[in-house]
Amino acid sequence: MNRTVYMDHSATTAVRAEAVEAMLPWFGEEYGNASSVHGFGRRAHEALERARATIASRLGARPAEIVFTSGGTESDNLAIQGIAAAAGKGHIVTSAIEHPAVLTTCSVLEKRGFDVTRLPVDDTGLVRPADLEQALRPDTILVSIMAANSEVGTIQPVAELAALADAAGVPFHTDAVQAVGKIPVDVDEWGVDLLSLSAHKFYGPKGVGALYVRAGTRLRALQHGGHHEQKRRAGTENVPGAVGMATALDLICAEMPAEATRLRHLRDRLQQGLLDNVDHSSLNGHPTQRLPHLLNLTCENAEGESILLSLDACGIAVSTGSACSSGSLEPSHVLLAMGIPAEMAHGSVRFSLGRANTAEDVEYVIQKLPPIVERLRSMSPLTITS
Ligand SMILES: *Cc1c(COP(=O)(O)O)cnc(C)c1O
Repeated sequence: MNRTVYMDHSATTAVRAEAVEAMLPWFGEEYGNASSVHGFGRRAHEALERARATIASRLGARPAEIVFTSGGTESDNLAIQGIAAAAGKGHIVTSAIEHPAVLTTCSVLEKRGFDVTRLPVDDTGLVRPADLEQALRPDTILVSIMAANSEVGTIQPVAELAALADAAGVPFHTDAVQAVGKIPVDVDEWGVDLLSLSAHKFYGPKGVGALYVRAGTRLRALQHGGHHEQKRRAGTENVPGAVGMATALDLICAEMPAEATRLRHLRDRLQQGLLDNVDHSSLNGHPTQRLPHLLNLTCENAEGESILLSLDACGIAVSTGSACSSGSLEPSHVLLAMGIPAEMAHGSVRFSLGRANTAEDVEYVIQKLPPIVERLRSMSPLTITS
């Protein structure tokens, strides 16, 4: 008897009904351009500004500090390239476990003459503040370290890291795409200058996100045109997207304490059930300082991709590492940076739980995974020797 169990919420989520409902008028009769002066335009503008105010208040920011973008990737690019363009040259510090939107952007800037330091992480995925302190130089123009990792869920000590950058007078960017809606996020408590978020990771629509930019931060626009978004991002605003994002953020933040507890219980049960029933399996990531919905496991001598496909045949959707790197045979850069050997990294699977998941879903996965791993191992040329 097959169920459908979606446990890939770190890749994307379903748009919640309230967000769909809130967006509909702005696709339909209220189709105005937020820059137009007539009634259609004014109403669209007001909706956009209400969305901006809601998002700002949920992040502890001011509305003028929120720039709407097309998603997390654009927000990361605008933060990093925008600071780099304003500075002209210099040194950027990031970590080895960032999302490709950050890592690839830094590599492109490196080819254009910027210096880049990629901080290592410990075996739980944590950046050591002392390493950041050592990496900062007089010519450092930006530190970009993610709030929570998408593959293993490890939560960085953002406030501590941002304070070190601040003491050196260097702006601090955090990719909080995985953190928003899962853990409390407040730009002043963290002391960050730039923060990326993406609606589709918290039950909002795809193709819309935002970048928080602290007032006074020197940032150059990447795309030019009209005077939208205070000249920080030209282009007719995605009013339905912004409205859907604000609705989804408002609700996820309101639900967070209770939902985080529920997901943590489900996740912990899944973790225990799988570790108990799959021999030679181990947890990747920080045991406690970790997103409440996320579980990354290595099953030795079983390919992650093969596990994924076998689970898929049972109606269970998971991922191996990041969705962006699946399809490639390279082991996850995150697991490698944590010191996990390549052959172990190949056997890793990520379960990311969400709103629709139940205790029955968890039991179903606990029932299905162990025989899958056993069968794959029996077909594997490798044998476990311990
Ligand atoms: C999903 C994700 C992104 C990219 O966001 P998109 O809106 O899909 O472009 C960036 N960073 C992290 C940590 C993510 O999980």
